[in-house]
Amino acid sequence: AASGSAVAQLRRRLESELEDIRGAGTWKSERVIASRQGPHLRLTDGGAGILNFCANNYLGLSSHPEVIRAAVEALEKFGAGLSSVRFICGTQSIHKDLEEKIARFHQREDAILYASCFDANAGIFEALLTPEDAVLSDELNHASIIDGIRLCKANKYRYKHMDMQDLEAKLQDAQKHRLRLVATDGAFSMDGDIAPLREICQLAQKYDALVFIDECHATGFLGPNGRGTDELLGVMDKVTIINSTLGKALGGAAGGYTTGPKPLIDLLRQRSRPYLFSNSLPPAVVGCASKALDLLMESNAIAQSMAAKTQRFRSKMTAAGFTISGKDHPICPVMLGDARLASVMAEDMLNRGIYVIGFSYPVVPKGKARIRVQISAVHSDEDIDRCVEAFTEVGRKHGALP
Ligand code: PLP
Repeated sequence: AASGSAVAQLRRRLESELEDIRGAGTWKSERVIASRQGPHLRLTDGGAGILNFCANNYLGLSSHPEVIRAAVEALEKFGAGLSSVRFICGTQSIHKDLEEKIARFHQREDAILYASCFDANAGIFEALLTPEDAVLSDELNHASIIDGIRLCKANKYRYKHMDMQDLEAKLQDAQKHRLRLVATDGAFSMDGDIAPLREICQLAQKYDALVFIDECHATGFLGPNGRGTDELLGVMDKVTIINSTLGKALGGAAGGYTTGPKPLIDLLRQRSRPYLFSNSLPPAVVGCASKALDLLMESNAIAQSMAAKTQRFRSKMTAAGFTISGKDHPICPVMLGDARLASVMAEDMLNRGIYVIGFSYPVVPKGKARIRVQISAVHSDEDIDRCVEAFTEVGRKHGALP
């Protein structure tokens, strides 16, 4: 009876918490897709031929035939999974090959795979930093960086978003510590803005700090060869550590990694808890990512076409009278301000066959609601033009445009 009442109490508490979420208008519902990921989707609730503008499928590789074939071949040759962590009996030749390929892609010494970039971020700070050290983190960094930093015992500094004066002040204060690590997203996923890495690296040099970047929204498509923000901004030799995902541009299956100096990677294999205490990446997932990297290393055509599509959307939307946050990034937040406006416009876009998502507080600051559009290299020019036309109609209807 005692445990029965505990369960009843828990249910009441959870139901009231769920009610609060609904009441606050922040409930996240999940649309169910009945087709592969791609620019054109079928939804289970009837929608067919839906134009999709909200996946992180930046290069369209999630459903690329060669990527799928590589996954099937890896599955057949290496099985469904390892039933083991890496250091017991969970390392296959394909895991070593992929790590070597990732390091080569980023021009770094070595790389280590994780089940996700969330895990890579959860594992790095605790393994690397002690109470003698300091970490300086952009206030808008991804939740997984924030959580990873929470887990470590270093001295923590949070600098204002991309504010170099504030970062410099915090670096000055952090001089008393043994080691300083500046941690930033390379590209920020809510605003589509790109970290000022040149300035960050200059400050890091001046104050003898290391630079860590999370490249989830950059790997594969930013920079002339898609290497990421560090290539785009000409600081590949100045950023020490990169964490990124295999779950977005690089095939979209799952997985994450850290790449950087060999002794750091060696240490992570010994100490990083999400690596040590979690199953190996499944072979099919390794196969996808490995093929995606091959495609990108063969040619920069896909990364280049991504940039052209982004430019088309951003310039046409701006000409139509919308404000698009960020610059030169396929994350194109259409800034609307009002949360209700963002939500009804997104709904009306879906009525016109365009799948986009509205974001409002607490995901973004109050009064800065937006619809986030994400461009993919496999959107056709016609897809992009259809999206702009629908936005223009819906914007006029709901008063977002004159
Ligand atoms: N870091 C950033 C900036 C992200 O946007 C994400 C995914 O949303 C992650 C880390 C986590 O990546 P993964 O999906 O591989 O866990």
